[in-house]
Amino acid sequence: MFSEVLEKISWNDSTKAIYAKTSTDVERALSKEHLDVNDFMALISPAAEPYLEVMAQLSRQYTLQRFGKTISMFVPLYITNSCTNHCIYCGFQHNNPIARVILTEEEIENEFKAIKKLAPFENLLLVTGENPAAAGVGHIERALQLAKPYFSNLQIEVMPLKADEYERLIHSGLNGVICFQETYNKANYKIYHPKGMKSKFEWRVNGFDRMGQAGVHKIGMGVLIGLEDWRTDVTMMAHHLRYLQKHYWKTKYSVNFPRMRPSEGHFQPNVAMSDRELAQLTFAFRIFDRDVDISYSTRESAEFRNNMATLGVTTMSAESKTEPGGYYSYPQALEQFAINDNRTAVQVEKDLKLLGREPVWKDWDQVFDR
Ligand code: SF4
Repeated sequence: MFSEVLEKISWNDSTKAIYAKTSTDVERALSKEHLDVNDFMALISPAAEPYLEVMAQLSRQYTLQRFGKTISMFVPLYITNSCTNHCIYCGFQHNNPIARVILTEEEIENEFKAIKKLAPFENLLLVTGENPAAAGVGHIERALQLAKPYFSNLQIEVMPLKADEYERLIHSGLNGVICFQETYNKANYKIYHPKGMKSKFEWRVNGFDRMGQAGVHKIGMGVLIGLEDWRTDVTMMAHHLRYLQKHYWKTKYSVNFPRMRPSEGHFQPNVAMSDRELAQLTFAFRIFDRDVDISYSTRESAEFRNNMATLGVTTMSAESKTEPGGYYSYPQALEQFAINDNRTAVQVEKDLKLLGREPVWKDWDQVFDR
């Protein structure tokens, strides 16, 4: 399990090593064909900042070679905001006195129909909070079954599950699972996640092993930028990615670096990441791993997403609602966080085409997996 590997990697020593990197380390990393985590640390370090343009060109080149000019489009659907966790940065946290919604089957289908009117989305991401008693695996399973006639690629972003529960969902059409570790800083993890199942660091971080063991086709990883030193956190994620690739080599992987946005939780981020730094991280990840999908959500602005669409990003959401039932049933409900790109999916498509990119709505079908 990855928690045992992580025990042996010192957070503080990693931080020191990143900030001690020099231009020689950066140039060595840029000249290599196969990069290790040590090289990745050089590319995200302050020492790499003067190399941003070189990194951008390499990132663009590797992305074109592996993904062509395509951008895979997806849409999230929150099916509940009910949550027993207390994440201090989230508007859905248990103590927040907001109206809680668990979409009924009819409401879920209404959302699917409303989404289909926005654009020809085929990649659906079902999102929940964590309330296994009221909206557990059975509820997610039913939502997947209902989604099958509408969408060809089904992914979930829900609480970590047991391996046999992932297997059960695969039988109902599940193709991918996204889970954010939020932070790999075990010493501080409980400050942000004080109560509930999410407070159990090992359970969450080893959830990725359980996904791999269950044979999930695609695993999405991410850290929430704003909690801890982002350079150290993404270094731990790079270790995690390499570990998973070694142990579950049939699985595909995606990464995501969401920057914290305002929510009803009123949590002020501990660290800020500039656009320039997010660009550096994106280029570094592409140079580190040419196959990994790099995903940007509507947390980022339209202008920034447009800029990055030709430089390394391969997956994007569009016209996202971050509240349950936001497309049809409850458009005024409280959102989990404020989005930053308010364009319609059609406008995103137009903009991507103007940039010479080809938005792809359908890039997966269950028949591929037979
Ligand atoms: S981040 Fe997720 S688990 Fe945490 S309170 Fe929000 S919805 Fe619940």
